[in-house]
Amino acid sequence: MMRCVARLLVCFLLSAWPLGAVAQGIATPVTRLNDQIFVSGREVRFEQLAMSRGQPVVGIDDSGVANLLQIIGAKMQYEPGTRFVVFTRADGTLISFTVGSNAVSVDDTSIAIPFGPFYEDGQLYVPLLGLSHALGLFVHRFRGGYAFAPQIVAVQRHVGQRRTVIEIQATAPLAWRSAYDGSPKHPTFTITFPGFANAAGSTVDLGGREARKLVIQRFGPPGFPITNLSIDVMRGIKLAAHRTGSTSLDLVLARNEHDLALNTVLATPSVQVSTTPRSAPSLVPTQAPTPAPTVTPQASAPVPTAVPAPEVTDNSGAIASGSPSPEASGASPSPSPSPLEKIMDVSVIDSADASRITLSLTGPVSFEWHRLAEPDNRFWIDISQAALIGPAREITVKLATVRSVKISQHQVLPDHVVRLIIDPSQPVDVSIGAIEGAPNQLGIDIHARPPPEDAPSSGVGVLPAVSQSPQPRVAVTAGPSHPNLIVIDPGHGGNDPGAINQQYGLVESHLTLAIAQRLKTNLERAGWHVVLTRDGDYEVGDPNGNDDQELQARCDVANASGARLFISVHINSSFSSGPSGLTTYFWRPSDRTLAQVIQNATARASGAGDAGVKRENFYVIHHTVMPSVLIENAYLSNWHDATLLAQPAFLDRLAAGIAQGIKDYTGGPPAP
Ligand SMILES: [Zn+2]
Repeated sequence: MMRCVARLLVCFLLSAWPLGAVAQGIATPVTRLNDQIFVSGREVRFEQLAMSRGQPVVGIDDSGVANLLQIIGAKMQYEPGTRFVVFTRADGTLISFTVGSNAVSVDDTSIAIPFGPFYEDGQLYVPLLGLSHALGLFVHRFRGGYAFAPQIVAVQRHVGQRRTVIEIQATAPLAWRSAYDGSPKHPTFTITFPGFANAAGSTVDLGGREARKLVIQRFGPPGFPITNLSIDVMRGIKLAAHRTGSTSLDLVLARNEHDLALNTVLATPSVQVSTTPRSAPSLVPTQAPTPAPTVTPQASAPVPTAVPAPEVTDNSGAIASGSPSPEASGASPSPSPSPLEKIMDVSVIDSADASRITLSLTGPVSFEWHRLAEPDNRFWIDISQAALIGPAREITVKLATVRSVKISQHQVLPDHVVRLIIDPSQPVDVSIGAIEGAPNQLGIDIHARPPPEDAPSSGVGVLPAVSQSPQPRVAVTAGPSHPNLIVIDPGHGGNDPGAINQQYGLVESHLTLAIAQRLKTNLERAGWHVVLTRDGDYEVGDPNGNDDQELQARCDVANASGARLFISVHINSSFSSGPSGLTTYFWRPSDRTLAQVIQNATARASGAGDAGVKRENFYVIHHTVMPSVLIENAYLSNWHDATLLAQPAFLDRLAAGIAQGIKDYTGGPPAP
């Protein structure tokens, strides 16, 4: 449905406005405009209606804006002096304008407008047509003014077992009348929406069992359009109309009365399987029990930015210059464009009263965030100059007060923006910032408690660049702070022996340590520094911790070290004695090459069977921030593999193979 609206807007913009033709950055002439404005047939008076650069604009605090919004059931959120104006449509669609930005964001879409909101003489002006379109209004220009009307934006049918359901979506609260014409040849239901224009097409085929087709037509004057739905039904078919939301309506067509009720319609909700860990290990061991995340000071204290901002010429500059220093933004007219950073991974750690979402980035970014007032309570973060690797997706958090969290590539032009939206059922407190000790990790902590009373509704922040050691970056992507360091993780240990082969007296935790120690020797000989997550038979981290805490402790070792690579060493096992050979696992798509290179070299050197690389969400390769793989070195449950694993020479060959793979992938440690 949103897509329909967005497409409509784009068409209008392309046909009516010369995009980019209006220069920015010069004082903005604003002249008074005496046009009449009608909304749903009612005249709305504006005190601050004006003309600027050939377009009608309105002062944001004009009572006309409030009246317009009230008629269509929309809301506005704006704090004087800030750069953001946010509107919520009656159907929940979010619209956000940024001062100086030629893009308005409408839910998941970004739409170009000739110019964005601007300050003039301390008054914030918003382009009226851009606002109306974003609000999903039909715009009619007449001599002496404009008429706006909400629209029917989608009509969709679902043919079920014994009935047909027609879903109708509009951009403002719906009112309707229905009528039945029982003519023997063409019985017809007509649903009339006074005051609504039509953006939902003209006909819908209804399949022919309960009804043949539905025709959508607009009548009435442009200032007060009326949209009619006529449904060409079979004889004996009944209709029921059910309001499913303030802007949505379901029409049910059925032969039997009891099939008209709505409660039996909808499919059962799909079950979500979470792969997130069960507990919340602390990312930062030194952290006090306060639920506040370890964030950099400038990010944790969001600062509404200083006023006159329209000098900025593009979005990236606007956001990047939104730092706490007000002078900075005006003084430099063209901040150099920051490079595009990638969001490689999104992970979640839940605890009883908070969830932390961690975004693993390839470098520093800036972001802005918004919070809607009750009862909407949505909170979103726009990360600028960022590209999301992988599809838009839902992020599962365990917090009961959070309905959903979604992340998507919100915008690509003129700049890349990744948006994360948190939709809570009641107010939540959110803090955003860098995670201490974990370079390029942006932490978003959602707390079950409401935000402080005086909390601002929007702000900006940065994930700062990690202070680099003197040597240059070795990779284009993540910048390890210790590019000559490799962390090796011998799987299991202590009270967790891993897999066991009784007959051969083989224990996984002993074998993984034996291979890891051989690998360490190999790598050190080649000039690498090596850290083992354990160098004896013990648990890593708290011996009483649960599995995830144990695994997180291994990740903490790697993440805190700023290592170049993380290699976890395991031995496979199966209930059946059939499976055999080596498998190297990766999680992030970007780690596939590392996995393949190590797999090739290890299979070649060891002579063990090659069972290929696989993608699997193992904890340690998901929650480490550097390129990470986990190698299952043959099967303890397979007779042939177990014979090999019992020979120290085979362990030597495995270690030599992994070391060779690391060399093939990295080219060796950086020159000192
Ligand atoms: Zn294992």
